[in-house]
Amino acid sequence: MDLSKHELRKTRTNKIATCKSCGTTRRIEVLSRRWFNASSKSLTPTPSFERIKINGIPSQDSRTRELLTCCGSALPFKAIKGKVTDHKCGAKCRSAKGGDCECSCGGKHHGENHC
Ligand SMILES: [Zn+2]
Ligand SMILES: [Zn+2]
Repeated sequence: MDLSKHELRKTRTNKIATCKSCGTTRRIEVLSRRWFNASSKSLTPTPSFERIKINGIPSQDSRTRELLTCCGSALPFKAIKGKVTDHKCGAKCRSAKGGDCECSCGGKHHGENHC
């Protein structure tokens, strides 16, 4: 890989999952780094770097495993897809359990109550 043609980009993805057994919903923020290739306009993920943030606080490794599982199984995290609409953001959005957000915040506050 020719590093002079690549640029390191940080991406931030909010993810949400609901436990099938107890119904607990958890929202996490995943920070990852990707190499952006300016000539091909493609992003190459660097899997070695991935950090989980809860409520803006970076989570420690031992705690991360705990947060990604519930009732003994891995939570099915899905990325929150935000679609900005005229619908005013409110309590419904902040306590949402699904991954699709359709309101004025564009996914920013989606599932926030579960942080
Ligand atoms: Zn919202
Ligand atoms: Zn929402």
